[in-house]
Amino acid sequence: PLIGRKAAVTGSTSGIGLAIAEALARAGADVALNGFGDNAPALASVGAFGTKTVFVGADLSKGPDAQKFVTDAQAALGGLDILVNNAGIQFVSPVDEFPDDKWDAILAINLSSNFHTMKAAIPAMKAQNWGRIINIASAHGLVASPFKSAYVAAKHGVLGLTKAAALELAETLVTANTVCPGFVDTPLVRGQIADQAKANGISEERVVKEIILASQPTKRFITADQVAETVLFLCSDAASGITGSSFSVDGGWTAR
Ligand code: NAD
Repeated sequence: PLIGRKAAVTGSTSGIGLAIAEALARAGADVALNGFGDNAPALASVGAFGTKTVFVGADLSKGPDAQKFVTDAQAALGGLDILVNNAGIQFVSPVDEFPDDKWDAILAINLSSNFHTMKAAIPAMKAQNWGRIINIASAHGLVASPFKSAYVAAKHGVLGLTKAAALELAETLVTANTVCPGFVDTPLVRGQIADQAKANGISEERVVKEIILASQPTKRFITADQVAETVLFLCSDAASGITGSSFSVDGGWTAR
């Protein structure tokens, strides 16, 4: 259903972004990958679906680099139909002890990069009168948890940014939506589990059960594939009436 579509996914060398890139390629889209670390495994697994797969490096904490990510992806793929802003980082600390540089980095990567990539991608999407902008926020885009002030602020901001863009684009066939996952077992969450185990002097298993999944009524992790399938649906023509919305994939977290 996405045959011939061209997609760019930030932070797709790992975790949720990689699953999204794989799902888009499986559906027939050409995909530009991005992210830190070794990109060879991601290029191989996404490329295995036989569509065009390229890696476009960019440090999304820098605005001009985030905008260049889009123009480089457009050049490499010959256009851009689907933009998925997924790259994100986390840091946990009380507000009064939160390091200034961590605040700045989280706002830059988790929120401002979405603005910069959207700013760069929207003109061509408007001109071709088709586009899908999907921003990966979080349950923390809707509700808060203690010690995650920067992350919660950035993710709430992503929902606001996406809604504003959706209204601006409403009369075109370009939609903008957010997906708000609950806990997904990725390297980002594994880092928090290890930190919590150390801080509380308990096993990682107990952290998962008693701390991480305490907020998720299903008591099961969301899978990266479940998030990716939601993104695929939002890319479909069936979803063309959905814009400015947020989709929770959070095991009931925000239902209470
Ligand atoms: P992850 O750590 O596995 O992957 C993050 C990706 O972003 C990696 O590819 C990394 O290289 C990339 N990245 C980080 N900083 C970057 C930068 N400055 N420039 C370019 N790339 C950068 O994390 P994940 O768990 O897959 O998270 C993906 C997204 O999903 C994030 O926005 C995160 O906030 C969100 N999310 C995750 C969960 C979860 O439980 N894992 C829940 C809700 C939302």
